[in-house]
Amino acid sequence: MSDSDKTEIYLDNGDGTPMLPEVVEAMMPFFSERYGNPASLHKLGLDAETVLDDSREILADRAGARPEEIIFTSGATEANNIALNGLRLMHPEKRHAIMSPIEHASVRNVLNRWKKEGWAEVSELAVDENGKVDHDNLRDAIRNDTLLVSVIHGNNEIGTIQDLKALGEICREKGVVFHVDCAQSFGKILLDLDSLPVDLASLNSHKMHGPKGVGALYMRRKVKLRRYFEGSPQENGMRPGTENVPGIVGFAKAAEIALREREKVMPKVEELTRVLAEKLLAIEHTRLNGPPIGPERLPGNLNITFRYIEGEAILMRLNLAGVYVSSGSACSSRSLVPSHVLTSIGLLHEEAHGSIRYTLSKLNTWEEVERAIEETKRSVEMLRGMTAFIPEQHSERISEHAQTFYRKKAGE
Ligand code: PLP
Repeated sequence: MSDSDKTEIYLDNGDGTPMLPEVVEAMMPFFSERYGNPASLHKLGLDAETVLDDSREILADRAGARPEEIIFTSGATEANNIALNGLRLMHPEKRHAIMSPIEHASVRNVLNRWKKEGWAEVSELAVDENGKVDHDNLRDAIRNDTLLVSVIHGNNEIGTIQDLKALGEICREKGVVFHVDCAQSFGKILLDLDSLPVDLASLNSHKMHGPKGVGALYMRRKVKLRRYFEGSPQENGMRPGTENVPGIVGFAKAAEIALREREKVMPKVEELTRVLAEKLLAIEHTRLNGPPIGPERLPGNLNITFRYIEGEAILMRLNLAGVYVSSGSACSSRSLVPSHVLTSIGLLHEEAHGSIRYTLSKLNTWEEVERAIEETKRSVEMLRGMTAFIPEQHSERISEHAQTFYRKKAGE
């Protein structure tokens, strides 16, 4: 069988999911027949405005929010930027911000820029070896001039799920705004934002079989932000610019389906991931990065280090075999800097570089998982056959120093 005959196996759903046919179908009329701008006052504009309102209601309902608390954006990156920068503009006197060390770049880079500009001090919270934020550390880190705490709900690389209730209660107690990035968790984990002590939450559509380029910011009623973008008054002035009507319709449809099917499909996704994890961790010199497969981890997320080989090399081999995975988060996978998430949970640079992330969705099958296992085993075996860094097999080829180092790491 040639490479082109092989069916492709997509295990990179953490970067983006295929759209469901029902979602595409729901969006189609809004490209061609129902193309009005919601700001226009004629029939087509009113039709677009109505569908925008309906979509907002659906989204709000699925996230446990009220329609007026939902601001449509171009995705979670924009929602994170509007939330953080809008707060900074609203409270310029507060010069301290707190985040976890495992935030997505769209939070991390904003706060790091504030720090670089000398505008704010930024504290990074301690996390344990699974990426869980230390609650006492949060309590201690909050100061009188703390503007916000920002924590990722479900981590995109290692799947760690944070306890939003416990963390939010500490923020409430201390009177600090709590922002959460729910880009990966929305649709997989039940979110009831109204009942959680959360003030701002970023959501997106393309991790749950909706279209790319659309998301939302949840803004609790009492929370005030200054607008970060200037323009027309769309989205309460918080996100000016003509709304992406087809995208928003697709987002609402995807959320509707994801939440309707969640209880049925997520256990299957978790089971597929569990078997994939068991078989891959049976390969020598591997380690699971992040919490055990189960309730503390995003369904479908698996991150494994294959010691003594480069993650990129495995990724390329798997790519040739038609199995698509990632070697870290999308944003860091094109750079040679090791993932800040993996180093934050204690991995050495070389271990971080040897990591592969598999992210499954409800569309994956047992056959696909079996083939991914086979192809990974084959790739690892082949690449290890070429490496000079496995102490047991190639001890004569590496220095004394390197042997001691790797023995120590392997706990011998
Ligand atoms: N936050 C997290 C946790 C993510 O995983 C992503 C996307 O990978 C984003 C934010 C950015 O989302 P978007 O692509 O919708 O801007």
